[in-house]
Amino acid sequence: MKKVGLISLGCVKNRVDAERILGGFEARGFEIAEDPAEAEILFVNTCGFIKDAVEEAVEEILEATLHKKSGNCRILAVSGCLVKRYPEMKEELPEVDFFFTPEDVERIPEIVSGVPQPLKPHDYPARILTAPPHSVYLKIAEGCSNRCSYCTIPTIRGEFRSVSQEKLLEEARWLAGEGAVELNVVAQDVTSYGLDIEGPRLAELLHRLQEIDKLRWIRLLYAYPRALDERVVELLASGGKVIPYIDAPIQHAHPRVLKAMGRKVSAAETSEFFRRLKKHVPGIVLRTTAIVGFPGETEEEFQALLDFVEEIRFNHLGAFAYSPEEGTLAAELAGRVDEEVVWERYDRLMSLQAGISEERNAAFVGKELPILVEGIDGEGEVVGRTYGQAPEVDGHTTLEGYGDDRVIEVGEFVTAKITASSTYDLVASVISHDDE
Ligand code: SF4
Repeated sequence: MKKVGLISLGCVKNRVDAERILGGFEARGFEIAEDPAEAEILFVNTCGFIKDAVEEAVEEILEATLHKKSGNCRILAVSGCLVKRYPEMKEELPEVDFFFTPEDVERIPEIVSGVPQPLKPHDYPARILTAPPHSVYLKIAEGCSNRCSYCTIPTIRGEFRSVSQEKLLEEARWLAGEGAVELNVVAQDVTSYGLDIEGPRLAELLHRLQEIDKLRWIRLLYAYPRALDERVVELLASGGKVIPYIDAPIQHAHPRVLKAMGRKVSAAETSEFFRRLKKHVPGIVLRTTAIVGFPGETEEEFQALLDFVEEIRFNHLGAFAYSPEEGTLAAELAGRVDEEVVWERYDRLMSLQAGISEERNAAFVGKELPILVEGIDGEGEVVGRTYGQAPEVDGHTTLEGYGDDRVIEVGEFVTAKITASSTYDLVASVISHDDE
């Protein structure tokens, strides 16, 4: 039986594509290689969003060509965003047998294997989970139509296209059957769900997802901070499975910069978005991202971003130094900010946020919360996450008193009292295990 291996780069949305590619091969009787070096058919599923990601992808592809020269690899394929962004790469990489763009994902297994149909009926959608199955991603749409001036995604992934509610419910039920208790709902912009198909909107989808028994947490990631549907706010506040957590990138807060970025919301609307959530959703945890050093950004404009962050007081904030991306409108803009200034501003924003994160984390001390057990960390501590800690991007909670005689059950929930906090992490003392 041929072995298929895959190296997946970039965001969680790209990882879902990778899992679909592997699922299609497994459904056609191929074995999935644990180690890419074992693979006879090897995929590099690339990211091409920004320069750094492009460089990383090229390095991975060149590394993979070595497997073909001296390893088990017989067929080398490259898929993902880089192929769409730089189709000319095909000329420069003769060692690569197949190039696929993101649109090809569903057809890749058939084209490479030559096996038109899955050999065995497969639960929909054929997907091989590449991360622990208790916390998974549900990609509810492809592409983006917001066309921010600095972003390559609309060019790479096309216009916003919602996945039908029926397909998503089937996939979510399958994921729950595979052990998912936390469903992280993702897209480039989850708030646009359903707009393009005149179908059920995000609120309806969330209501239906809540009906899936085994799911315990439904988390919203990548919301565009435009006016949030009242019904979504009610769901976030309802104490149900849609947990009071939202990730909504602001990118900036100064009107001139937001306009130059092509953002479709003003600073006032963005502020209203977060203030409304803080007012109506008890215990809401806010994550955002911001870009520093956008062309023409003055000290006064940067100060406006700092003031906004100071005002809203996000629990979590990720910052990016502006990267001029070929083919974007912003890359043509004058007023390049000096690299040194960009990183000095980056440090100032992150140190302001560190103080705020510390303060927001300290507010959890004394609370009794359900904690999703994730396993053992590098220090041998049992760790988990509260509803306020998204996978892979936010901190974690160290669990004391888990029970030395107990086998660590990844994916179980314990109830624990938060006893200490640091800038990004928490410590909690286990009160009970959900199965008790
Ligand atoms: S919302 Fe803007 S930044 Fe986000 S993917 Fe769409 S175009 Fe890119």
